Amino acid sequence: MANEYDLVILGGGTGGYVAAIRASQLGLKTAIVEASKLGGTCLHKGCIPSKAILRSAEVFATLQKSEEFGIISKEITVDFQKVQARKRAIVDQLHKGVQYLMKQGKIDVYEGFGRILGPSIFSPTAGTISVEKANGEENEMLIPKNVIIATGSSPRTLPGLEIDGQQVITSDEALEMQELPSSVVIVGGGVIGIEWASLLSDFGVNVTIIEYADRILPLEDEEISKEMTRILKKKKVKVITGAKVLPDTLVRETSVLPSSKPQGEGRRICSGKNSCICWQSTKY
Ligand SMILES: Cc1cc2nc3c(=O)[nH]c(=O)nc-3n(C[C@H](O)[C@H](O)[C@H](O)COP(=O)(O)OP(=O)(O)OC[C@H]3O[C@@H](n4cnc5c(N)ncnc54)[C@H](O)[C@@H]3O)c2cc1C
Repeated sequence: MANEYDLVILGGGTGGYVAAIRASQLGLKTAIVEASKLGGTCLHKGCIPSKAILRSAEVFATLQKSEEFGIISKEITVDFQKVQARKRAIVDQLHKGVQYLMKQGKIDVYEGFGRILGPSIFSPTAGTISVEKANGEENEMLIPKNVIIATGSSPRTLPGLEIDGQQVITSDEALEMQELPSSVVIVGGGVIGIEWASLLSDFGVNVTIIEYADRILPLEDEEISKEMTRILKKKKVKVITGAKVLPDTLVRETSVLPSSKPQGEGRRICSGKNSCICWQSTKY
């Protein structure tokens, strides 16, 4: 039998779960349908994990200059697996926090891929939501009075620059790297590309940014682009603007070399995943 709701939200990311909490506070019987994990991109593949890694990079960069502050520390190295473990612990804790908020707000969470059905023999009412279970169980049907679509976005790829998860990656794969590459080319100088350029260069990776527009962060004020370019150059990041990537020139290698290998080898081309901040490049 189908469950009835005042509101069903497709997608349990920042947009979806915050709307669900507010709806439940206003007394609506609310459900969320989430195909992956509550918390969405921001919690699992975006803001939170990237800020956790960014913080580790910042600590490493500060320690490298510790003598300037009168602190003598010998041989500072990066244990990237520990960096990743810290990131995972932060994400897991916040994920539990979101799950708790759903329970507290008496919001029903359905795990599965949601589809809005039109009138058919399978759908009791037009607008019924079918929840497809990943484990092959029978679909659940939800009858909503109102629906919010908060299904977010997915990484954009460039023609000819297919993501292979090894050499050509998006920020999704970058967040799961178990070791640092010796060098990276970041395609796109938007907010996410710049964040990665900053953190990877702090870890000692040789970074090049290629941006099609005539300045990085083209959606921000010019002063911000200038200041950010200055900061990145100080970190020895190579910033190339007004340039287009030519995917056919990419030589795909069979493996990615870790940072102990000489710089310049094992070059990755990292296509930055665009968030709503760079919304014009995002695939909805
Ligand atoms: C690397 C990176 C760093 C970022 N850093 C920042 C930052 O510092 N600050 C900031 O403000 N923003 C940042 N963002 C952007 C931020 O993550 C997004 O703006 C935010 O996640 C958008 O929220 P959303 O709820 O619209 O979508 P999402 O968080 O993408 O959530 C959508 C959810 O819908 C689910 N879904 C999709 N289709 C269906 C379906 N049919 N049925 C059921 N579920 C479905 C998905 O599994 C997902 O969980 C970053 C993004 C990235 C990628």
